[in-house]
Amino acid sequence: MKLKISVDPALCFGAASCVAVSPSHFALNDDNKAVPLDAGEVVKGDIRLYERIIEADEIKKDEIVLAAKSCPVAAISVWNLDTGEKLYP
Ligand code: SF4
Repeated sequence: MKLKISVDPALCFGAASCVAVSPSHFALNDDNKAVPLDAGEVVKGDIRLYERIIEADEIKKDEIVLAAKSCPVAAISVWNLDTGEKLYP
């Protein structure tokens, strides 16, 4: 399925819970903001891209949603683009 992952950099304060839960899908950039990764890959070296569409299976989807839920300020949103459903928040 296609997932859209979005991090609101205005909310993110670098708590890194998302990175701890899913290090292959989130990393902190130089500004201490989380950016979405695709299996550990940054988009063409762009560490300031806060929205990303990735291909995910059920296991990856569950991990990404768990990471989003772990964020203390709900800075991460996740959509299933195949169904149009917002998975979180
Ligand atoms: S858990 Fe939330 S506040 Fe912490 S780095 Fe991730 S997005 Fe930012």
